Amino acid sequence: MRRPFVAGNWKMFKTVAEARLLITELLPGLTTIHGVDIVLCPPFTSILPVAALLEGTTIGVGAQNMHWETSGAYTGEIAPPMLAEFCKYVILGHSERRAYFGETDASVNRKIQAAFDHGLVPIMCVGETLAENEAGITREVVTRQMREGLDGIEPHSIGSLVIAYEPVWAIGTGRAATADGANTVIADIIRAVLAQMYGDELAEMVRILYGGSVKANNAGEFFRYADIDGALVGGASLKASEFIPIVKAAVS
Ligand code: PEP
Repeated sequence: MRRPFVAGNWKMFKTVAEARLLITELLPGLTTIHGVDIVLCPPFTSILPVAALLEGTTIGVGAQNMHWETSGAYTGEIAPPMLAEFCKYVILGHSERRAYFGETDASVNRKIQAAFDHGLVPIMCVGETLAENEAGITREVVTRQMREGLDGIEPHSIGSLVIAYEPVWAIGTGRAATADGANTVIADIIRAVLAQMYGDELAEMVRILYGGSVKANNAGEFFRYADIDGALVGGASLKASEFIPIVKAAVS
């Protein structure tokens, strides 16, 4: 049995003051929900205050990106040990980073390795664009992202990995994938590639989330499917009235 996992990706939203306010709105609802791993991923500037407010709860904190080097002359970047002081998780390979900041499967791979090296749990994002979906090459694209993103990653790390299947055409568009379609990609492509690379037993341990326009009113449909272990939530994670019911749906 894989424990459900719901993460909120706050993207480039919320000042520290706004982040604090959102946490005070989220805490009463989230702390009464049990049986699910909950992770909040604020912008870098809010990681420390959010981590402080979440102390004593079981809610985890994650970052949205990081560099792969431990330190160095990389102006504007954040290194894994800097995050590891406050975070347990880090989102890597989000499609917005791939599309706007030149991330490749090779750079995602270096970051995944660096995350494991520093005791961080990567939430690795994969997913096809609309053009790739319409061209019928979802299997090729997602298989390549999986194989290249995980190239050289040791089996002993894989059990803790979290993967998010996020079809790019569903992110921030209000046009979610169908739950059935998402489950098929997750089971037949993502978990199948994991099984080819690491064997059935490890593939069964990895939590695989769906992400893309998950809201309070559709989350339950996704969570009903056996291979969808939770959600990576963008826009709806910025509103307590949306995010709390999404997390509840993961355990009901
Ligand atoms: C995301 O940013 O990972 C995401 C899934 O966004 P949204 O929920 O807004 O589609």
